[in-house]
Amino acid sequence: MYVKELFLDNFRNLQKQRIEFCEGINIIYGLNAQGKSNLLESIRILSMGRSFRGSRTSELIRFGEDYFYVRIFIKLQEGDKRIEFGYRSNGNKVIKVNGNKIKSISDLLGHLLTVIFSPEDLNIIKEGPSYRRKYLDSCISVIDKNYLYNLMQYNKVLVNRNKLLKDIKEDRSKKSLLEIFDEQLIGYGSKIIVMRQNYLKNMESYMKSFLREISNEKVEIIYINSVGLKEAFEEAIIKKRLKERLEKNLDLDLKFLTTQTGPHREDFKIIINGYDSRIYSSQGQQRTGALCLKLSEFEILKKETGEKPILLLDDVMSELDENRKKYILRKLEGFQTFITHTTKKDLIGDCYFNIFSGIVTKE
Ligand code: ATP
Ligand code: MG
Repeated sequence: MYVKELFLDNFRNLQKQRIEFCEGINIIYGLNAQGKSNLLESIRILSMGRSFRGSRTSELIRFGEDYFYVRIFIKLQEGDKRIEFGYRSNGNKVIKVNGNKIKSISDLLGHLLTVIFSPEDLNIIKEGPSYRRKYLDSCISVIDKNYLYNLMQYNKVLVNRNKLLKDIKEDRSKKSLLEIFDEQLIGYGSKIIVMRQNYLKNMESYMKSFLREISNEKVEIIYINSVGLKEAFEEAIIKKRLKERLEKNLDLDLKFLTTQTGPHREDFKIIINGYDSRIYSSQGQQRTGALCLKLSEFEILKKETGEKPILLLDDVMSELDENRKKYILRKLEGFQTFITHTTKKDLIGDCYFNIFSGIVTKE
């Protein structure tokens, strides 16, 4: 697929305008603070329903205005698609695909396939478990609608279970109610664990070949799951283990008034050359690790959907050395790519856009 046209209205600092892109490499260049990342963010929100920079949707509205609206036309192998996203400062949100209103974000996922590369990717390696979980959840949600459904249900049950833990503290007789929540938690939780397990295995195999090619390093992904299982096990076994763990931890749960075990506490480790990259890798190794992670995400997305995802490269070119730059460009050949950079020098594209004060000019 590729983006043919983008229309922007009141999105961040970007001027109201319609932009036509080309099928290959689109170079977006301009000085700092002109709107390059904002432009990629506007594409990404139509893909994922939220900002890749962790901003609130309300923050995307142009200062002083009370709504924003973005619309995109994409060309697919068969047919075209039009996606619209409108948001008002009163919280009113309207998302449409081909003119049809969409009820939840899960129905938006999968229409516009994008993978974003940005300097913040390093956080996936460096930061705490919640970063990796969020990343993993978003990757799987795009390719598997059931995953997002299970995750949302799981989180709902979790909130209720935690509420009940507090109630039990006041009234011990309510302990019997835990069983219902636990059963649901185990049901959704074990499905999430199976899917994470499969995704990470898949990711590991791509990572292995990318890292070997780029820097001749060995990599392993270790899934730190909440059932203490090292190898892939079936759902039934995971269910049993999750049940045991919940029972074992009940006293702790009642002490801390939160659920101590389950997918919401999981993590994965990226082991480069035998060491946990989060703790031991150099900045450069971590950056390469993050790059390979993204390339793997891209490969899986491509394979699972049978479509060509669109690549958004925000400021990554300035951070990579020549070899890695060449490597990534070679890997992404044949796909529509948006590359932001402060200058158009050193970058070969199929079309060029200058951005100044939120105005995008095609050359
Ligand atoms: P850099 O090269 O430094 O990464 P950039 O071109 O990517 O710069 P952007 O992150 O796109 O810059 O931001 C451009 C400008 O948009 C910034 O000056 C920022 O303050 C401004 N901006 C951010 N949010 C809004 C908003 N809601 N309304 C208006 N302007 C905004
Ligand atoms: Mg930027």
